[in-house]
Amino acid sequence: MLILNFVIFNNYYKLFYSMHKTQTLFLLSLFIFYFTNSSMSQCATLCRPFDPVSIPKEHNVDFKNLKLTVDFVPEKKLVIGSVIHSFSVLRDRVDSIFLDGPGINVKTASIDDTPIRYKTTEEGFYFYPNKSLTWGGKHELKINYEATPKKGIYFIGWNDSTGTSQKQIWTQGQAFDNRYWIPCFDLANDKVITEVIVNFDSNYKVLSNGRKINQKIQSNGKTTWHYTMSHPHATYLIMLGIGKYEYLETKSKSGVPLQSWYYPNYKNRVESTYKFNNEIFNFLEDEIGIPYPWESYAQIPVQDFMYGAMENTTATIFGDFFHVDPISYNDANYVSINAHELAHQWFGDLVTARTTTDLWLQESFATYYNQLAEKKIFGEDHYAWVNRQACNSALATTDKKPLAFSNIPTTLVYQKGSQVLAMLRYTIGDSAYRNGIKKYLSNHAYGNVDSEDLLTTFHDETGLTLDWFWEQWVYNGGEPNYHVDFEELESKGELYTQINTTQKATSNSNRFFKMPVLFEIYYKDGTKISRQEWVEQEHHSFKFNNPKGKKIDFILFDPGSSILKNMTFNKTFEQLSSQALKASSLIDRYDAILALKSYPINQKINLFKDVYNKEKFYLLKNEIIQQIINDTTLSSLELILESLKDSNIKVRKNTILKTNRIHPTLEQYYTKLLNDSSYVLIANCLDRLCSNFPENSTSYFEKTANYEGTYGKNVRFEWLKQHYIINKDIKSLSELIDYSTSKHEFLTRINAFNALKYLNSITDEIITNAFEASLHANSRLAQPAKEYLTYFAQQVEHKQRILQLIKEYKCSTDQKVVLEKLCLIQ
Ligand SMILES: [Zn+2]
Repeated sequence: MLILNFVIFNNYYKLFYSMHKTQTLFLLSLFIFYFTNSSMSQCATLCRPFDPVSIPKEHNVDFKNLKLTVDFVPEKKLVIGSVIHSFSVLRDRVDSIFLDGPGINVKTASIDDTPIRYKTTEEGFYFYPNKSLTWGGKHELKINYEATPKKGIYFIGWNDSTGTSQKQIWTQGQAFDNRYWIPCFDLANDKVITEVIVNFDSNYKVLSNGRKINQKIQSNGKTTWHYTMSHPHATYLIMLGIGKYEYLETKSKSGVPLQSWYYPNYKNRVESTYKFNNEIFNFLEDEIGIPYPWESYAQIPVQDFMYGAMENTTATIFGDFFHVDPISYNDANYVSINAHELAHQWFGDLVTARTTTDLWLQESFATYYNQLAEKKIFGEDHYAWVNRQACNSALATTDKKPLAFSNIPTTLVYQKGSQVLAMLRYTIGDSAYRNGIKKYLSNHAYGNVDSEDLLTTFHDETGLTLDWFWEQWVYNGGEPNYHVDFEELESKGELYTQINTTQKATSNSNRFFKMPVLFEIYYKDGTKISRQEWVEQEHHSFKFNNPKGKKIDFILFDPGSSILKNMTFNKTFEQLSSQALKASSLIDRYDAILALKSYPINQKINLFKDVYNKEKFYLLKNEIIQQIINDTTLSSLELILESLKDSNIKVRKNTILKTNRIHPTLEQYYTKLLNDSSYVLIANCLDRLCSNFPENSTSYFEKTANYEGTYGKNVRFEWLKQHYIINKDIKSLSELIDYSTSKHEFLTRINAFNALKYLNSITDEIITNAFEASLHANSRLAQPAKEYLTYFAQQVEHKQRILQLIKEYKCSTDQKVVLEKLCLIQ
């Protein structure tokens, strides 16, 4: 407990662990004494909280190559494998080698073809060479094994006899799950060159890491696929994707083969799924400045994936809910994630965080570079809004741990981290940033990194000492809190404007943030002045001469919002109106509209009309509609109507999503959108229309009867739900119940459990489906299934029936306990 809460000098932490225990305890008590006394705010050098995970795990041999050969019995979820680890010895004497492999059943083990003894533990195996291995010796450890893994590799749809589900096998190694199906040293701090050989039914296709060097049909109806890497990578990045697929192959500008895998019956979705694929690849190679570091790149969709996507080296897996048609593309598309996973091929796969303490070196970078790719594709305004959303997520996170710390919330390691990198670039400039990053990647290519490596590289490459930046943004948490105001003053006959800034110290220490901040003063005559100043103390006052006594229109602190911060800066209605119309950056105009939220509609509606007509991007339009959506005055209704007719789908969709009550004069315009180009829009529009005008529902149902929606079938669900509510139609309910069965992909099932709970529908079949779903490896599916069960188990009339069905349900004793616990929650 104590060790997590006190602060140590960063440069001591490695030393700390190489000392004897008594020395360590002495030093510990010194630190405790020092930091439990009042002077916590000062450190001689970089201060950072200690993270025990930052110490990498020892290994006594250096694994070089991992050659895996696997067969599967998919109906039984059985892996039959053989793995050869080539390694060199890192000690004068090695008598045992440990490998991770929980639950794996080793059949035989040998070193250099001589059988050896081994011991199985809960976590893995100790292998005992027949005689001690000595420093530098090169050996091969071969293991034959079987496993029915509970994690790491997933068998989808092999027991579905209806042909509804995809039949697939796919893997997800991160964080440390490949060890459940391959006995290996499964940590990032010893990279290996991998080779994967798969024997599988010739009717399917197999993808793995690296180059396919051979594909050979066997006499038994199976084919052998042989993939190999040419550079080392971490074991969590080993992947397999097996199923019915086709792929399209193109080449990047630099000549790298790019494979886009797709389901054979969805060839018409390839373009919308992989939109901007080559542009993203070419952009990242240019932007990062280091050629793509592997021989090829493939992307493959899989069913029931628990995350968005995973950056396995050379072969990204993504959830097939991004395998979209042109309409679904407008609701959720793969563009940003495509860029994110590709960026990981450099940040994560080429250079890999030595421990999870420095996961930000992977996730923050991948997020920042996917934002840059989005800027390239969708423009500056889109980028500004993406940044603002990232800042909002970071600021809303109550956990204020540092970026370089294990197990921090995803909103810190992804969103906040991306903003820290953007601020680093803003602070040191484009050239210094890009050269530093290039050097960092080339210095540590195919190796491991930590935060110090990045800091040192920047120093070596650019001459900049960025310790202060690391200390406030990487090694400590929180963000600056500014209060800004201004005065127009006169002194000795000189007129000037004084802008005052006050910083509130961060809650966990007495620190103030140091950042270069741009100030802009806009005058009523249309001119403006800009000046950058360092803000680093509690109070600053900056003087801006105004010899002609020009009238101020409005003032901006950090225009364009380059700094992650909380800020109060009170402005008048007139100042906000001018800012909304005249500020050059989208985000400043948006902030002005946001600040007008509390003003009465009649005071701001004319301004809103002017802004709405002037703006090209959807953001301000959507905020304006949100502020007036419940107003029924003519001016507001006119603006709402304009938004329903807007050429931008994001504007139309926003209006539908924000609508509760539809004004009768607008009903016909809402109805027109029942055939719009977004399934989310159509589903929500159907919902709003049916609840506002149930008497007209027949015509709404006719218009939408043929829509399904892609994954999750969201339009179909809304249709069935409303049809059942309004017409008490049993056929609709039966269809909803069918969607809860395991033959359907997980988003459809999630929608089914939510809809059935909403309709208060309970049958033995749904309960049993919910048992299976709540035990599913995909927690996104398990959660709503659990909620369904808990909801009904809390009702006296259903509880005993559910408990009885648990008794009859075929599953392990552990799983029965899980289900019973769920149903006994009060
Ligand atoms: Zn990522």
